[in-house]
Amino acid sequence: MAKRKKPKVKNQQFKKQQQSQVDLSQADSIQCGKCDNYLFIQSFVIKKVSSIMSPTGKEAIVPIQVYSCGNCGEVPSMFLKGTGIEEKPKKDNLFRPDLG
Ligand SMILES: [Zn+2]
Repeated sequence: MAKRKKPKVKNQQFKKQQQSQVDLSQADSIQCGKCDNYLFIQSFVIKKVSSIMSPTGKEAIVPIQVYSCGNCGEVPSMFLKGTGIEEKPKKDNLFRPDLG
């Protein structure tokens, strides 16, 4: 019976400093298309999956996280992709210079 030696755990120095650092001050901030507010709050679109559509055969409640404007409640359409909500015929309300 051969004895198995445990591999020595060396004190490896991981270069945590090398993680890509993004300068967020250079990134675009998403603004509310309605009121130009910068602050958003977490909200959820909640989908009810019927038992016919559900892979488990049971009705399921599936929350999809979106962000809504903390001022007027508007949800940018980019967050609604895949929710089925954005497919409703709707005027493009992301850019309304007439409301400014
Ligand atoms: Zn807003």
